[in-house]
Amino acid sequence: MLKDTFGRALRDLRISVTDRCNFRCVYCMPREIFGRDYHFLERKEILTFEEIYRSARIFVDLGVRKIRLTGGEPLMRRDLEHLIAMLAELPDIDLTLTTNGSFPVERVPRLKEAGLKRITVSLDSLDNERFQKINDVRFPVRQVLDWIDACADAGLTPVKINMVVRRGYNEKDILAMADRFRGTGHIVRFIEFMDVGTANGWRMEEVVPAAEIVSIIHRVFPLEPLQAHYPGEVARRYRYADGQGEIGIIASVTQPFCGGCTRLRLSAEGKLFTCLFASYGHDLRQLLRSGRSDDDIKQFIRQLWQARDDRYSELRNENTRNLPKIEMSYIGG
Ligand code: SAM
Ligand code: SF4
Ligand code: SF4
Repeated sequence: MLKDTFGRALRDLRISVTDRCNFRCVYCMPREIFGRDYHFLERKEILTFEEIYRSARIFVDLGVRKIRLTGGEPLMRRDLEHLIAMLAELPDIDLTLTTNGSFPVERVPRLKEAGLKRITVSLDSLDNERFQKINDVRFPVRQVLDWIDACADAGLTPVKINMVVRRGYNEKDILAMADRFRGTGHIVRFIEFMDVGTANGWRMEEVVPAAEIVSIIHRVFPLEPLQAHYPGEVARRYRYADGQGEIGIIASVTQPFCGGCTRLRLSAEGKLFTCLFASYGHDLRQLLRSGRSDDDIKQFIRQLWQARDDRYSELRNENTRNLPKIEMSYIGG
């Protein structure tokens, strides 16, 4: 098994299929920066489905067991179902997708039929006004809720629901969110607002710490901690004491989990990033497009992973904050 300098295995691959998005979430793609003049990747710069499939196959040979498609908004990529069908043929792979749930619900069964196993839908508030303020394109909550229902109907279960909690924007919605999805089988994951990229103006004061999120919920719906499913699981799990299901907390800021980080990220233009907070990526596209053999590419990835020593969240301080960083919409979380 391939291990990095801290003995962490390579298990998860996150593939960003586009850097574009139909939302302008204020914590991710603020419109002042991602406006008309913003230079998104051009078509020829982006990996083709064949290139993505070939890369994924190589990664699976090297030990990857979980692939998450992300973006930008992955469903903006035309015929994504076709890529899903290709990836679904890889053996023993947990294939999943993160989306903002803003596309017509008719698409959901097609994703399932193509071979998608599970889905994560992002939803930051149940209050329509607050949600529209956050997505900044006036997209209504109702349609995302319909999308979540369609995912459950299609059997893409358990549906995970990502809520990024940012003080001053949506901390009032924590309890309502827990309440709305208790007993549905869906798993809400409360995510601390992270200092990804440099566009979102992150400030520590805007982070609602995991402990505070848990206590807000626990006061009304008592919670009990659960064991992780596997070492290095990103979300800390809690169950409702009354048996109404579970939630997850992703506390990258206040309780970093670098020690178990088995994730590698592939950007839409074919750069590999060994950390969400890395300053630069490693060019896989150039190898894919220059006639190199699978063995050559495997060797490149082996060397990259074996040299990996990232642990940004554990080191986070005043100095690391000013390092150049990639944007979340480019790499996909
Ligand atoms: N567009 C898709 C979506 O929103 O689900 C997929 C890509 S999005 C970058 C992946 C996840 O990252 C979403 O759940 C989003 O809410 C989360 N995210 C984006 N910026 C973040 C930040 N600064 N801190 C924490 N989570 C963030
Ligand atoms: Fe788009 Fe997702 Fe970023 Fe929101 S979080 S702007 S939906 S990529
Ligand atoms: Fe992994 Fe980097 Fe996040 Fe730490 S900061 S958990 S190494 S992606």
